[in-house]
Amino acid sequence: MRDLLARHGLSPRKKWGQNFLTDGHVLTKIIAAAAPSTDDCVLEIGPGLGALTQGLLAHAGNVVAIELDKWLGDILAAEFSAQAASGQFTLVRGDVLKIDLEAVLAPFRHKVAKVVANLPYYITTPVIMRLLESGLGFASITVMIQKEVAERMSAKPGTKAYGSLTLAVQYHATAEMVAIVPSRSFLPRPEVVSAVICLRALPQPPVEVEKEKLFAVIAAAFATRRKTLVNALHAAGFTAKDGGGDVESGKTGLAAALVACGLRADVRGEALDIYQFAAVAEAVTQGAATGNSSIAAKS
Ligand code: SAM
Repeated sequence: MRDLLARHGLSPRKKWGQNFLTDGHVLTKIIAAAAPSTDDCVLEIGPGLGALTQGLLAHAGNVVAIELDKWLGDILAAEFSAQAASGQFTLVRGDVLKIDLEAVLAPFRHKVAKVVANLPYYITTPVIMRLLESGLGFASITVMIQKEVAERMSAKPGTKAYGSLTLAVQYHATAEMVAIVPSRSFLPRPEVVSAVICLRALPQPPVEVEKEKLFAVIAAAFATRRKTLVNALHAAGFTAKDGGGDVESGKTGLAAALVACGLRADVRGEALDIYQFAAVAEAVTQGAATGNSSIAAKS
């Protein structure tokens, strides 16, 4: 890989998260978790020098790869010209956060769509959220990301890593940690430890409550992690559905609503699973702006 870069007079660009995977065992694990087949169209984000692309082309019906770096794009176009000519490989040059994914994948609508990527770390969360919320029906998203972010995505309630990102992922998918990957598996070595995570799409969200309201409650709960849920909800302008009134009765009403949901009145938001958050979202309402409306606005 070092030679290939040198031959083209290139050096990895830090600002685009160019840490190329050099570990064959990790590549095998990523492919095994994604299990691409001839029925699949795999969207690869940031193919780089094509290490993962090669493995994907050996199994997947089609691979659509989005690469931002013009020079890497030129190398990929030359390297996979035969697969491009046969229609198996499509190189899309541009920024994954700006490209119209629906249009790019339209020719492969009849295939099962999957995402596989060694993601550039500076855009991990926005890319994954964009994919999950795209409505494009990705069956799975298998990605290399920072270990710390993978832990947040797959965390259990009550742990430090558990938070709004965990619940945003859980709303769409199950999360499986596939591998922990040390920095020596990359060229150049990143400053962080990495992990491969596989998100498998749920046929429908696990809860039926209105999505915006659910995530407004979740945002309020985690905006002030050390507060009890009653105080966090109150600060964000929530009241119990049939409660309200002045500050104290507002909190009293919220506490009663939590107890009616089978929770302790002094519970902290970080202890609730997605079903409990859904029950709370059903039991509360977010009123007009309060003195703490900045917290509400964040949600
Ligand atoms: N897949 C290769 C591998 O595993 O060795 C390279 C992975 S490297 C971590 C991330 C890749 O994403 C680089 O090729 C980089 O140029 C590309 N990239 C960075 N930002 C991007 C963006 N916004 N859209 C598309 N590709 C991007």
